[in-house]
Amino acid sequence: MRVLLLSTYELGRQPFGLASPAAWLRREGFDVDVVDTSRGPIDDAALARAALVGVHLQMHTATRLAGPLIARVRRVNPKAHVCCFGLYAPLNGEWLQAEGVGSILGGEYEADLVTLAAHLAKGQRPPAAATGVSRLRFIQPDRRGLPPLTAYARVEMPDGSRRVAGATDASRGCKHLCRHCPIVPVYQGRFRVVPVDVVMADITAQVAAGAAHISFGDPDFFNGPAHAMAIVERLAREHPGVSYDVTIKVEHLLRHAQLLPRLRDTGCLFVTSAVEAVDDAVLEKLDKGHTRADVERAAGLCRGAGLPMAPTFVPFTPWTSVSGYLDLIDTIARLDLVGHVAPIQLAIRLLVTARSALLDLPDVRSRLQPFDPSSLTWPWQHDDPRVDALQRRIMDAVSETRHAPRAVAFDVIARLAAEAAGLPPDAAPSVRNPVAAVPRLNEPWYCCAEPDAEMGV
Ligand code: SF4
Repeated sequence: MRVLLLSTYELGRQPFGLASPAAWLRREGFDVDVVDTSRGPIDDAALARAALVGVHLQMHTATRLAGPLIARVRRVNPKAHVCCFGLYAPLNGEWLQAEGVGSILGGEYEADLVTLAAHLAKGQRPPAAATGVSRLRFIQPDRRGLPPLTAYARVEMPDGSRRVAGATDASRGCKHLCRHCPIVPVYQGRFRVVPVDVVMADITAQVAAGAAHISFGDPDFFNGPAHAMAIVERLAREHPGVSYDVTIKVEHLLRHAQLLPRLRDTGCLFVTSAVEAVDDAVLEKLDKGHTRADVERAAGLCRGAGLPMAPTFVPFTPWTSVSGYLDLIDTIARLDLVGHVAPIQLAIRLLVTARSALLDLPDVRSRLQPFDPSSLTWPWQHDDPRVDALQRRIMDAVSETRHAPRAVAFDVIARLAAEAAGLPPDAAPSVRNPVAAVPRLNEPWYCCAEPDAEMGV
């Protein structure tokens, strides 16, 4: 039986979410095609061949892009069984079923996909949903059929050189319960590790395919610090010179500060950290588990360890004020983080997605408009229209300055923030010291912003 696995967007990374289930299905004898529509179009013939079409939905943008693709599959191949799997599948199960999706799987989906394919191959009625997070015995992902690594985001080094980047997951889920995080409703404070040997086999295969850098997609690399360190120690030993990046929350950067120099020494180029805000009241609403003082300490520890921190933010929330936004901009300048922050991070608006734990907050619920199936969110309006207007202006400015150096984009954003606060342009926060370039992936789009890549849907 032929299975077609589709991915619409995974932050410019070659999708683990196709390579892993492809390995499981091929091991059971299924013929598997894999297509990443973020890197090229898919033709109708490929859609028509499959008896089972699985669409990987790991993030919000991917889910929105999947809508027209699912409609196309249903039109071209109405007999195919369509399944959606990954984090956002159970979150949007009702909508997906209304779109004609027959099965919803997630977040630990590989074994359930095999069960589904086996049912279909035997002509049995497939299960409609299996949304658990049971522990799986992971096997090495099979990346055959995916576009080459050179088709994906690369690491840009401060000297202007670029490195081909591979990507893998050493864990999925998260043991934390941040209120705005889409992982929480599915994993509910649990995480699952991929065995070290499996991770290393995947890395070795990608290095053989040309990767000079590995981007770890773990929601938080230090959910299991011993596991994480075992992997990077082996990475450094077995593939000296291959660099990597990870995502680590502020709380873990502080708790495991002694490990930061070892990350640097094993090839870590930068650490992404979901700072989200520097206003303690907003951080409490988001249940982030850190404070403004913690952010400042973590930034100092990373700097001291020679490990650039790349903070991400959700600056526009129902609790953001114009002066609070200006304070965020000033804090970034004061901490010398201007070169570390992708400008898009300063335009992001809090998404209230289906089943979000934010819906538990009365002051979120009271601001919501009806659920919007086109954006797959509960839209909200700020009580202060100046904040919503500022967010739109910042988003436009980020788009207009997308080819400019980060310091230039920051300057434009800072002036807009000052203007919104009624201050003269020369009172805008400004870059304090020369902005040093830091290593970065060259596809800095995150889940609330549409990627600008041509989508082959
Ligand atoms: S630490 Fe990060 S991944 Fe974990 S729940 Fe919070 S936002 Fe989500």
